[in-house]
Amino acid sequence: MSKQQKRVAIVTGGGSGIGLAITEKFISEGIDTVIIGRDEEKLSMAKSKLGALCHTVCYDISNLSGIPQLVEGILDNLGQIDILVNNAGINMKKDFVEVTDEDFQRVITTNLCSVFSISREVVKHMLPKGKGSIINISSMAAQYGIPRVIAYSASKTAIDGMTRAMAVELSPAGIRINAIAPGFIETAMTAKALNADPERKGKAMGRTPLGYMGQPGDVADAALFLATDASRYITGVVLPVDGGNSIGF
Ligand code: NDP
Repeated sequence: MSKQQKRVAIVTGGGSGIGLAITEKFISEGIDTVIIGRDEEKLSMAKSKLGALCHTVCYDISNLSGIPQLVEGILDNLGQIDILVNNAGINMKKDFVEVTDEDFQRVITTNLCSVFSISREVVKHMLPKGKGSIINISSMAAQYGIPRVIAYSASKTAIDGMTRAMAVELSPAGIRINAIAPGFIETAMTAKALNADPERKGKAMGRTPLGYMGQPGDVADAALFLATDASRYITGVVLPVDGGNSIGF
């Protein structure tokens, strides 16, 4: 592949679940993909599966002050960043009154503040090139009310607002910003949230017209579309990949 055709993506949380599926998809299209996570073992397992186009960086994105150096390091190694997928996230299921300020802050810092900081540093690099695609991973928790996930819902609803605000400010400079709102997708996160709570799982599936849980690959197909020129005239959208869950009765 010639130097000109080289494309580089960052996928936060690319070592597992939805992020890993997105990484696999990008790599199958020849995109150099940097995956970021806290668990070194998870990252090296992904790397050994995906090969030379997979690059790993072990970093806790809730450490906001180190993010400029994190992005700088990726640029030093790979020379460019064309695509950013803000996928890493944590959930916390607790009764509203049991959530401490520290709990709330932890989820907001990981799911929201880091997305702002990483995007800002990547956009500084994309602006002079006049091109780039940023994809934020949102959630059904931003589409309707889900009980016992107050901090998560706040973080993902803010992601949708930030997606629109970034799109209007940055699209004139050639940088497209979109979000994907996955429905109920089979990953470690949903196993934890749903498998021990059959009533909640039944409720989720009861309002999903396609009637089954999605696979990480379903989100990855949408991410590839939004990352590439196939979606060149699309910016500022929050695309549900949800089997119809968001419009279900
Ligand atoms: P997983 O728990 O499987 O993956 C989350 C990833 O985020 C892990 O690879 C984890 O890596 C990484 N991560 C978490 N915290 C940090 C941190 N502080 N620093 C760096 N990396 C971090 O979850 P999913 O794949 O299910 O979720 C991915 C995204 O999709 C999340 O944003 C989630 O909110 C969203 N989503 C998922 C849905 C689903 O049905 N699964 C539905 C709607 C939205 P490590 O442990 O190595 O740090």
